[in-house]
Amino acid sequence: MINNFVPRSFGALAASGLLFASAAVASSAGVPPAGEDSGELVNIEFGKWMLVALGAFAGIPLIYRLVSVVYCQIRLMASLGLENQTYFSSHKHEWVSWLKINILYAPFWKNRHNRELQISRALDIGTLPTRFESFFLIGYVVGNIVFSLHKIDWDGQTTAILGEIRNRTGVLSTINLVPLFLLAGRNNPLIQLMGISFDTYNLVHRWLGRIVVTEAFAHSACWAAAKVMNGGWAPVGAAIQGSVFIQMGFVGTCAFVFLMCHSPSSLRHAFYETFLFLHIVAAAVALGGLWMHLDYKKYRWLVYVKIAIALWVFDRSVRLFRIIYRNIGKRMTTATVEILPGEAIRVTLKLARPWKFRPGQHVYLYVPSVGLWTSHPFTIAWGEQLQQNHKIDDERLSFHRQDLMHIGEKTMSLVIRRRTGFTNALFNKADRTPNKVITLKALAEGPYGKVDSLASYGTVVLVAGGVGITHPVPHIRELVEGYAKGTVATKRIVLVWVVQSPEHLEWIRPWMTDILAMERRREVLEIQLFVTRPSSTKAIHSPSATVQMFPGRPNIDTILDREIDRRMGTMGVTVCGSGSLSDDVRRAVRAKMDIANIDFIEEAFSW
Ligand SMILES: Cc1cc2nc3c(=O)[nH]c(=O)nc-3n(C[C@H](O)[C@H](O)[C@H](O)COP(=O)(O)OP(=O)(O)OC[C@H]3O[C@@H](n4cnc5c(N)ncnc54)[C@H](O)[C@@H]3O)c2cc1C
Repeated sequence: MINNFVPRSFGALAASGLLFASAAVASSAGVPPAGEDSGELVNIEFGKWMLVALGAFAGIPLIYRLVSVVYCQIRLMASLGLENQTYFSSHKHEWVSWLKINILYAPFWKNRHNRELQISRALDIGTLPTRFESFFLIGYVVGNIVFSLHKIDWDGQTTAILGEIRNRTGVLSTINLVPLFLLAGRNNPLIQLMGISFDTYNLVHRWLGRIVVTEAFAHSACWAAAKVMNGGWAPVGAAIQGSVFIQMGFVGTCAFVFLMCHSPSSLRHAFYETFLFLHIVAAAVALGGLWMHLDYKKYRWLVYVKIAIALWVFDRSVRLFRIIYRNIGKRMTTATVEILPGEAIRVTLKLARPWKFRPGQHVYLYVPSVGLWTSHPFTIAWGEQLQQNHKIDDERLSFHRQDLMHIGEKTMSLVIRRRTGFTNALFNKADRTPNKVITLKALAEGPYGKVDSLASYGTVVLVAGGVGITHPVPHIRELVEGYAKGTVATKRIVLVWVVQSPEHLEWIRPWMTDILAMERRREVLEIQLFVTRPSSTKAIHSPSATVQMFPGRPNIDTILDREIDRRMGTMGVTVCGSGSLSDDVRRAVRAKMDIANIDFIEEAFSW
């Protein structure tokens, strides 16, 4: 269930920031027992507090998630059967809308969040976090700085000070590996438990990575600086050459620094596959170096490296198990790839073993004959359990030629926009066949991604741009079905889909045909199609009062104003599309938060 009242992961980061501060205070009070190295004791103590802070990463958002799930469930139960859900249609407390407008949904600066910051058309430097995300990311960074520098004997000799900072940053860098690796995995249970999107986890993963690398670099720099102060650069070179302990630490630090240097947004996006491969290799080298460095002197901190490796092995093992279990049975999973107009393909997966997915979830697709090791995420647009006695309707025959091939099988379908790598190769493979349809052996790994139920919203507005339509389609199906059965609070669903050309409508035509034929659909679903580059005005025609087509871009403010005027209950507004569309919807929702109780849910197709 969704209640975006508080973004989940950052409640935890907040707590960790506070815990950092309290840890620093608590540790100030500690007096080391006689005979113990006081510096080491402080490090151990800080290490413990760091773990407590990391525990808050999981604990507080988990509690929040539980509360929000219960709240949504109560709202759903209270709304069922009610024609009018007035109680939930506006905020009961002004501070809630203030919080949403200014903190929770607010981009760091003005209105830009998902649209990438670009230096030039070819060079982007990433996206800006939200204000709430920034607040806690800064808190975490500040917490690490405090931990690195607090309780250092600043009156001592410079080399002694450097030694203390070296030890502290080394310890912190090692402990931070645990959340770093936890947030790197696809099978991170926290994604499901806390309902946080994978791109938010990636954001936190990137920041944790920056912290780990900075601390590792500071650790090595302090060591080198102290050596240089004592005897120039010669002892530094000699130590690197002559000591396995130093050599391995040096290898680890170099690999960490490489990891940071090759990860900027523009490089990542331009060469994703190469980036991923190098990232894994460099991470393995970094961990290997660090392991040997710590093991050489039997440092207690080695346990954190072991935990990080265990997390990685766990993730990879679960992935392997999922791939084998889901795709290899009496037959292997196959993918039927069909060329669609507008540089897109529809991929229908005929699964070796049937499995379920929830709206908004995605799979990783492997097609060994196109790319042996690569896997790419795609939102599951449609799933079907076809029966042997499936009625073949002549009128719909053209839309269901793949379904006919798959009678009796569980299928899942994706719509994929052609890009320049794997998707391009897949497109070309189908395009080269006479019928523009090809069936290939494939592996589907999933389902992944947070589960968002929109069932407790009285009014749901789903905005999609281009291939972002794969996100709302399963939601609409679920809500219309729920409306007919009386199992959802939703009384009104509006789909706003922005496409460049009318031919893009073909991407989801078979599924839309099914949705439009669903029981009581007319009472609840309205579709507004916006065609930004119509070939002629003749191409723009509205088939019915509930399915309308317009030329140009939508005015999100006007659409929301209209829906707010006629809303029932709490409004859920979702968006999945380009960065500028997402930012526009976010801006419009924030502008109207004072008038109506609106939750905003954003899905991004990139990280
Ligand atoms: C959760 C999620 C759901 C998605 N759902 C859809 C969908 O339903 N339909 C659709 O057309 N696209 C979807 N995408 C985008 C799709 O994954 C990429 O367009 C695709 O991986 C590009 O492959 P390529 O090799 O042709 O890319 P390239 O042309 O090489 O790169 C294009 C972009 O895709 C990114 N990319 C490339 N490879 C990967 C990868 N393995 N993992 C993640 N990103 C990658 C690159 O960073 C770059 O920004 C989704 C992405 C995510 C994260």
